[in-house]
Amino acid sequence: MTRIFKIEPYHRELISKTSLLNFLSFLDTNEVELPVLLMDSERLKKKASAVGKNIRNSKVFYAVKANAADGVIELLDGMSLNFEIASEGELEPLEKVGVSADRIITSNPVKTFKFLKKAAEYGIKYYAYDSKDEVDKIAAMVPGAKVYVRLSVPNEGSEWPLSKKFGVEIDDGISLISYAAQKGLDPVGITFHVGSQCTNIYNWDNALYKAKVLWDLAAQKGIRMRVLNIGGGYPVKYTKNVVDIEEIEKNIDGFIKDLFPPDIDVFIEPGRGVVGDAGVFACQVIGKSKRGDENWLHIDVGVFNGLMESIGGIKYSYILEDTGGSKKSWTIAGPSCDGFDVIDRNVMLHEPEIGSMVLILSCGAYTNSYASEFNGFSIPKTLLI
Ligand SMILES: *Cc1c(COP(=O)(O)O)cnc(C)c1O
Repeated sequence: MTRIFKIEPYHRELISKTSLLNFLSFLDTNEVELPVLLMDSERLKKKASAVGKNIRNSKVFYAVKANAADGVIELLDGMSLNFEIASEGELEPLEKVGVSADRIITSNPVKTFKFLKKAAEYGIKYYAYDSKDEVDKIAAMVPGAKVYVRLSVPNEGSEWPLSKKFGVEIDDGISLISYAAQKGLDPVGITFHVGSQCTNIYNWDNALYKAKVLWDLAAQKGIRMRVLNIGGGYPVKYTKNVVDIEEIEKNIDGFIKDLFPPDIDVFIEPGRGVVGDAGVFACQVIGKSKRGDENWLHIDVGVFNGLMESIGGIKYSYILEDTGGSKKSWTIAGPSCDGFDVIDRNVMLHEPEIGSMVLILSCGAYTNSYASEFNGFSIPKTLLI
């Protein structure tokens, strides 16, 4: 059966015609169980080779938590990307494809004992910290490890801020760096995270200025650092336009060149920026209802089995089958019985039919990796096309 979809002009800025046609012909010619997360390998390759391109001396570590599907890991491994992980569960897919320890870093500033033990056994050398306790843990379990301190930086303008949970101010940073050295660790550098889906280019400027102050204080104490880890945060387009990665990186590169010694290593840890706009959920309308003056559209993927970020404010774009229906404003809900399972409100869409297919764009990051089987709805499979 060939389905006809209603393509709006704004869709074209979110997905290329080739990509869309590939997905649709795949769905037409294969028996695919819905919902499913389709990943465009070409797009993924393009993004993976674009990140880091405009920052001198940079090394890219893909943040596995954004999408840990085997196919994604295999593809990125094949492109010789490096990886950033936070748990033994994230090490597993890397171990499976044989990623060596020198291509893996771990930047979660508070790690479990279980993970530290596993990481040490695997031979991972780079670790983040933002407390004395973490320095003690790392010193005990991975003696001599290379460590970078997590600096707290402004997250204004990031749609998914991470600022409050981690990071220290400069004063604490400098005493922690000295403490790490005392404990026999190698305090190689500084890290920060400007917040995920960071649409404010100035966040990087502020973060780099702050890192520079700490960098110089360490140098005054005789600690020569070599690694500046700028974390993740590169945005992808969901509905609104975002600054592109090239522009962000050229800006960052300029600041690094002005502020830091020329021979430092720059680590970048993009997650969303690599996989976010390469994924599309293909799902189905399972119900419609009118409650008061609200039109409800029930689909088979929701907050619990893939679209968790919708509750944090990520607004997705939808492509519906053209069933000849007129445009209406919809409240879109997932399949579970939970009242929390509402993905979006006031979305203007042509009225679909029960069983119509819905494509949700830019779903490659933080979807399946966040998903649970709550209420018995299975986590959609991830397929690379
Ligand atoms: C989540 C995370 C990333 C990836 O962030 P994105 O916004 O997806 O690029 C990178 N580094 C650390 C330490 C993280 O926690």
